[in-house]
Amino acid sequence: MKVYKFGGASVRSADGVRNLCDIVREETEPLFVVVSAMGKTTNALEGVLERFMAGDRDGALDGFAQVERNHEEILAGLFPEGVPATVAGAVEALYAKARGVLLSGGAREADYDRWYDRIVSFGELISTTIVSAYLERAGVPNRWIDMRRCFVTSTRHRDANINLPLSAPLLKRAVAGTPVRVFVGQGFIGSTAAGDPTTLGREGSDYSAAVAANILDAESLSIWKDVEGILNADPKLFADTVYIPELTYLDAIELAYSGAQIIHPKTIKPLQNKNIPLYVRPFSDKGKPGSVIRGEMTGRIEAPILILKPNQVLLSIRPKDFSFVIEDRMVYIFSLLEQYRIRTNLIQSSAVNLSICVDASRHLKEVAERLRQEFRVVYNSDMELLTIRGYTPPLYEKYAESSNAYLIQKTRKMVRIVRRTFPWRPQTNIY
Ligand code: ASP
Ligand code: MG
Repeated sequence: MKVYKFGGASVRSADGVRNLCDIVREETEPLFVVVSAMGKTTNALEGVLERFMAGDRDGALDGFAQVERNHEEILAGLFPEGVPATVAGAVEALYAKARGVLLSGGAREADYDRWYDRIVSFGELISTTIVSAYLERAGVPNRWIDMRRCFVTSTRHRDANINLPLSAPLLKRAVAGTPVRVFVGQGFIGSTAAGDPTTLGREGSDYSAAVAANILDAESLSIWKDVEGILNADPKLFADTVYIPELTYLDAIELAYSGAQIIHPKTIKPLQNKNIPLYVRPFSDKGKPGSVIRGEMTGRIEAPILILKPNQVLLSIRPKDFSFVIEDRMVYIFSLLEQYRIRTNLIQSSAVNLSICVDASRHLKEVAERLRQEFRVVYNSDMELLTIRGYTPPLYEKYAESSNAYLIQKTRKMVRIVRRTFPWRPQTNIY
């Protein structure tokens, strides 16, 4: 068994779905295909949710009607001779269910994350229904898998973790006992043991694919993307990026946590546990090798890797008087952040000061208020975190010694810089 994952960009149009079909058709081994929502559907559904939560039912339904139109357009492109009634019916049934959720109303802000999962999970249900139907029509028999019935997750809505021991027998059973060679399942979604839908965090389809690979003992996972492979920096930000053919699991985890968009941070562990290689391959040119992430490397990484994590806030916390050192209150501070699910990206402390770089969050004001009961809290928003792995002295000089750097942390291999976000950023060179 192999696992292939196709992200939203790969299936954003009828041409994309046709290309997916060509790639799947060429594979001769059993294949588990994980698919994201089409194009920008997840963003659009988040917009629908905002209106729904604000009590704007008509606005939410209007927003959803646009989501429907986008899918109808893709369907029309895939079935120019007319969408078969069974396919149209299956997709319409999903729209109707989603509209039903939007009409239910009465959502409280405290349940935001649960409503998010109920509404946003439709993106992947619709996309896989379309992809599976098209494959079937194109002569690739396949079985559509409902991942909500296979992945049992934690109850942490909007950022759930998959429970491997509970999920493994379910997924294995779902692919057993059929001569069919191709399976199509949704990325990003699962459900709690009680059957409540959950999502795994934005970009979580990679994680779904990795867990499926682990459970099915896949020989490899390929993530098909609209890039040549893994680059040493975001080509939207830097002009002189180079391609990295090979990385270890360890490198990949570090990079993912630093904010590299290439793979979701939770993706690596399920693969590492079973030593399954991860290929990142260019969707538009299946002949190219792409990049591979695995346990051992044959060469070494020559280029520095730069990762920019946007939307950061730098908190600086110190006791109001010097009656205690900050260390004594560390546990309290971090449990508060954990309670509000605020992700910490960098920590630096001295006797009386603690600086923490965290993801901007809608709950941050509340946390700062609570901290202010005991501490002086200074709060810098509009920050970003730049990580450079394998930096050289000239690179250090260029980035760490620049005037907008607020905090620098450095080891032999890596330098991390918290800096003020540029209001406007042209594409520049790394060097
Ligand atoms: N559709 C979800 C997102 O856009 C999950 C994914 O694409 O991985 O975040
Ligand atoms: Mg994606």
